[in-house]
Amino acid sequence: MTPGGAADLARRLKAQAFGLGFDLVGITTLGEPATRAAFDAWLEAGHHGEMSYLAGDGATLRRDARRPHAGATHAIVLGTQYGGREPGGPVARYARGDDYHELLRERTRALHHWLEETTGRPLDARPYVDSGPILERDLAQRAGLGWFGKNTLLINPGAGSFFFLSSLFVALGPEVALATDAPFAADRCGSCTRCLDACPTQAFTGPRVLDATQCISYLTIELRGAIPEPLRARIGALLYGCDICQDVCPWNVTFTTALRESAFASREMFLDAGSREGTRALAREILMMDAADYAAAFKGSAIKRAKLWMLQRNACVVLGNVGTAEDLAVLEAMGGHAQEIVREHAAWAVGQVQQRR
Ligand code: SF4
Ligand code: SF4
Repeated sequence: MTPGGAADLARRLKAQAFGLGFDLVGITTLGEPATRAAFDAWLEAGHHGEMSYLAGDGATLRRDARRPHAGATHAIVLGTQYGGREPGGPVARYARGDDYHELLRERTRALHHWLEETTGRPLDARPYVDSGPILERDLAQRAGLGWFGKNTLLINPGAGSFFFLSSLFVALGPEVALATDAPFAADRCGSCTRCLDACPTQAFTGPRVLDATQCISYLTIELRGAIPEPLRARIGALLYGCDICQDVCPWNVTFTTALRESAFASREMFLDAGSREGTRALAREILMMDAADYAAAFKGSAIKRAKLWMLQRNACVVLGNVGTAEDLAVLEAMGGHAQEIVREHAAWAVGQVQQRR
């Protein structure tokens, strides 16, 4: 048995996690997610759109958290805040700085090493940072970190929702006793519907049900095709992702924190983008990029989840919505773009700008 007992090991593990830079820590055993039926219904309705990795084998693994890493018994679930107090802008806050995946994976590995040293034995473990076939929010709720808001995000009562979730899956034998946290049972949304009311594309079909195919985050980051025309105007000046249903949440208004992690600080090119002129300048800059510019500008950035042509498609939509005659030249130059989707979105944007004139 671990000296000091299960509760002592959990307490020291959490202290170590906070020392490594994590803001939230919960411990849970692995099992079937409480939201399994809701997840199946969501897939059945086709709300995942082109995110086919969530269905099929991906869904089978997600239906039981014991499956993704055979032998794992526990998950240490970790939250890292990324600066919900930063001003709003055309790029979602989480994507303005360095890519969080590697940073959080390293920290999660460091926690694993600490656990091995402390228990004095090798422990089979695997870090997941927004990457494995697991329902992270379900796991976080199970580990006591918060409840599912009506906006489908995990809300922590002391931190709001602007944080990354990662986890360390670990196989603990009977010789290592680790206390777990009670699931977060309460629903503290009450009668609030701010997030549902604020969504510009009305992507929620009901509380806690998001039709991703209508969500701006999906449309600007995941969708590989054309953005449906009826939705383009509703995207407004958002170029990459959307924070609106988090911005309006009272738990964020009250509890979200200032940016503390320098790696997540906004890159210079996004700093002026909060103003209408700044957004237009950023959109034009993206339209003028070639592959080398894109690689240089977004080296080590989470934004590279969207390929250059996707960012250019998004930039056309933004300029179609907020552009002026000054933006027409760069939009018209897109008529020679190699991607038909970009050409079509640029032509649409030119039409929108001209209509406004
Ligand atoms: S991220 Fe934006 S578009 Fe998506 S559900 Fe929230 S408010 Fe709606
Ligand atoms: S805005 Fe209101 S309903 Fe939506 S998640 Fe926050 S508290 Fe819940």
